[in-house]
Amino acid sequence: MFFKSNFPYTNSNTSYSDLLLEIDSGNIQSIYFYPRKREIDVLYKNGKKEKVPILYNDQLILEKASENNVELTVNNSRKESATANSFASIGIFLIFVIAIVLILRSTSKLASRALGFGKNNAKFVTIDDVDTRFDDVAGVPEAAEELKEVIKFLNEPKKFTDLGAKVPKGVLLIGPPGTGKTLLAKAIAGESGVPFISIAASEFVELFVGVGASRVRDLFAKAKDKSPCIVFIDEIDSIGRQRGSGIGGGNDEREQTLNQLLTELDGFADNSGVIVIAATNRPDILDSALLRPGRFDRKIEVMLPDLEGRKKILSVHSLSKPLSKNVDLAYWATRTVGFSGADLANLMNESAIHCARDESKSISNFHIENALDKINLGLRTSVISSLNMKKIIAYNEVGRAIVSAVRNGIDSVDKITILPRSGYLGGYTKINPDEEIVSTGLISKKLLLNKIEIALAGRAAETIVFGKNEITQCSVNDISYATNIVREMVTKYGFSIIGPVSIADSNDILIGDNFVSNKSTIADNTYSKIDHEIIKISKISLNNAINIVSKNRILLDKLVDILINKETIENNIFRKLTFDLLKV
Ligand code: ADP
Ligand code: MG
Repeated sequence: MFFKSNFPYTNSNTSYSDLLLEIDSGNIQSIYFYPRKREIDVLYKNGKKEKVPILYNDQLILEKASENNVELTVNNSRKESATANSFASIGIFLIFVIAIVLILRSTSKLASRALGFGKNNAKFVTIDDVDTRFDDVAGVPEAAEELKEVIKFLNEPKKFTDLGAKVPKGVLLIGPPGTGKTLLAKAIAGESGVPFISIAASEFVELFVGVGASRVRDLFAKAKDKSPCIVFIDEIDSIGRQRGSGIGGGNDEREQTLNQLLTELDGFADNSGVIVIAATNRPDILDSALLRPGRFDRKIEVMLPDLEGRKKILSVHSLSKPLSKNVDLAYWATRTVGFSGADLANLMNESAIHCARDESKSISNFHIENALDKINLGLRTSVISSLNMKKIIAYNEVGRAIVSAVRNGIDSVDKITILPRSGYLGGYTKINPDEEIVSTGLISKKLLLNKIEIALAGRAAETIVFGKNEITQCSVNDISYATNIVREMVTKYGFSIIGPVSIADSNDILIGDNFVSNKSTIADNTYSKIDHEIIKISKISLNNAINIVSKNRILLDKLVDILINKETIENNIFRKLTFDLLKV
């Protein structure tokens, strides 16, 4: 007889042994089994229904039941879940297939990058019609003049080769970041009307060894295709570093790339019309093979612009901007000593943004002042709340300003502020860099000593005002800055009684292909003398600063007062006050 499993079966009072007896005595009509359940439904001949616990996978009940002809039914629980199961397994199968496809696709990408040598990935930018002209590059007249010659080579190579002259293949532009090296290279392409192919040298370097070299090959293949043209390799120092250098020997991939570049530079003929221009700000670390004649044999220095140059650059970048009539760019050029072309471009751009924010029609001096503030000092952050802290910072800053005014002239101080800006702890005294140092890169012993005194002037002011035991660590950065200068004076420049000897510090010894320790060649005695000198010069400088600041105590207090109230002292106010009160 067939019966459904969901009959109302009550939980049993019958024990297992009773059940066996009942089966033997023939009282049981049928038993319903559930696979994986330790329970059966029992239907007695008298109509009683009962759930009886059994053992898992019970064989004894089965045997007994079949011996006594009890009807046996097994519940097919799978049937219900079968449909659900089949859907699930189709789902899993699909996920599996998709995963395999994805994995295959990514590995094939990887493989094509490794094996196809990234032909598609090399990021050279080709500009066929460059619209940059020499007029766009201001303030670097020498470099521009030298490069104009290159245009002649590109336009009329025959003129030179006929005379037996060799057309230069490589031009290396050397100069600090933002001075217009990229811009100059573009201007040459623009002026001579040839295509400009540019790539950052770091793009050559990839995870896979050999990719860089193949990219170099690609680049030159393309250049020859487009000839005459200009190939511009930016930041060449990232692959052009001296080979075999660095801790733990060279970097294989970089060296292979460099070797390929050297080969390619040799490979094309003088009159093929491809000129390679490279830019770097670290010419000192370049491999000497790169610099030999026939490769980058022309080196052109692109310097930070001087006063006249800055004025020109500012006017180039204000061409498309409405300036107020009273804006004198020559004045702003005096306020931006040490700025690169990119900094100046940024200044004009920030000014225009300030102007737009004010919803005014033209850029005024006020907007430029604000922009200069933002660039010089970073963005304003929170205001210092504690008056005591304000006072300490103000004395530090004014101390530095006074020593700078005494040592380098009143005009050397551009601005004093105690407004905290991101990137600076506490206040900030903007001291104009010396025009001559910026343009020549040379600095005298006297100027270095001045720098040290200015750096230590914050500590000097604190010592005078608060007393020897009340000084704070506010000048921590200035002190380490000063110590670095003193160390260089003693160990590099020969500016002390130690004499004109160069004593490399331990950092220099490990870098480069020179692993020999310098230390062994220098007596311990000399080392202690050096330390002694460093301490002596630092102490004398601090004392000098203390003398200068105490002589100017009245001015110091006055300036600090203004600074605490106004938070900023502009250079015209500083000039007015110091002009009357400064004691040299
Ligand atoms: P570098 O390659 O030397 O790091 P860039 O040529 O990339 O500097 O200069 C960045 C930007 O700065 C230029 O796009 C330009 O707007 C501005 N700039 C830099 N130097 C000059 C310059 N001499 N004259 C005009 N603009 C300049
Ligand atoms: Mg550049």
